[in-house]
Amino acid sequence: GSTVNVAASFGIARSVDAVDSVELLRNADLAMYSAKASGGSRVVTYDPAMHEETAHRLRIQDGLRRALEDSSFELHYQPIVSLPSGNVVGAEALLRWEDTKLGRMFPDVFIPIAEGSGISAEIDEWVVREACSQLRKWWDSGVDIKQVSVNISRRQLSSGLAAVVRRALDDNQLPARALCVEVTESAVVSDAEQAREALEEIRAMGICVALDDFGTGHSSLSYLVRLPVDQLKIDRSFVLPITEDSNGTAIVQAIVDLAHVMQLKVVVEGVETREQCLMLRELGVDSFQGYLFGRPAPLAQIS
Ligand code: C2E
Ligand code: MG
Ligand code: MG
Repeated sequence: GSTVNVAASFGIARSVDAVDSVELLRNADLAMYSAKASGGSRVVTYDPAMHEETAHRLRIQDGLRRALEDSSFELHYQPIVSLPSGNVVGAEALLRWEDTKLGRMFPDVFIPIAEGSGISAEIDEWVVREACSQLRKWWDSGVDIKQVSVNISRRQLSSGLAAVVRRALDDNQLPARALCVEVTESAVVSDAEQAREALEEIRAMGICVALDDFGTGHSSLSYLVRLPVDQLKIDRSFVLPITEDSNGTAIVQAIVDLAHVMQLKVVVEGVETREQCLMLRELGVDSFQGYLFGRPAPLAQIS
């Protein structure tokens, strides 16, 4: 009695690329996975390069499992400051990974692969625990950083999240306000109902929720500001245009005004110059993050 919308992903393979029916079907399968990986509801034709891509992905997945076992992940921290005081109000934990075989890997590359393979939940859990334990050490040694922010991948944005963060906070005797959870706009939109429930659960605990990379996911502003979040993090792609043309300024102004009407705080990422910083302050941005104030740095350079 209800309407169900069905979408399909297609993989096409041609017999000239295969020696037998088994290989032909496998090629079609690879093409279909590629169609799914790039968002689904599309048709992809098999290309022999897909084998190399798949092999590369598998090597990264293996590497990630090794990294979890032998703890070769590391967190770098980048300050978030409030102006004019210049006080460091928080620090964002950013994952770093150097593999013995694959070399230095960047999260933009390996996080999506981790998400596609189901190990991202374990990685997120490691990050949350590590960041909380670090904040405890800072507090114990008198470092005045009020809050640590962690990035949560889309796979983890489910009912299990609350228990993971609760345990990490309790184990380190931290109050809920010590933690900020960052989720990207696209992660929230891709499974809106489940994400909303997970976010409402952790917000009810008193944990801050920030919508990361705000403005890059092609969702409507009015939809986004109604999500259960406390902060918007304006993506750095909006920072460059503000010093270049008046449209760039107008967009940031509109985001800031709307956020403030909805009682959300606005953080801006990717502030690299004084000029950008001064303009963003004029526009009413609450807190700032970027190379101007500090690059993501390993612990040794912070404490
Ligand atoms: P993000 O959460 O939006 O993090 C900000 C990114 O911008 C970081 O890149 C940071 O190094 C970079 N950045 C900061 N200030 C500046 C600046 O002034 N100029 C420029 N050009 N870049 C700046 P990074 O560390 O490579 O991380 C990329 C993305 O990977 C993050 O974007 C986040 O979405 C994801 N990520 C990082 N660590 C984790 C993690 O532990 N878990 C999950 N799930 N995702 C993570
Ligand atoms: Mg972030
Ligand atoms: Mg961001």
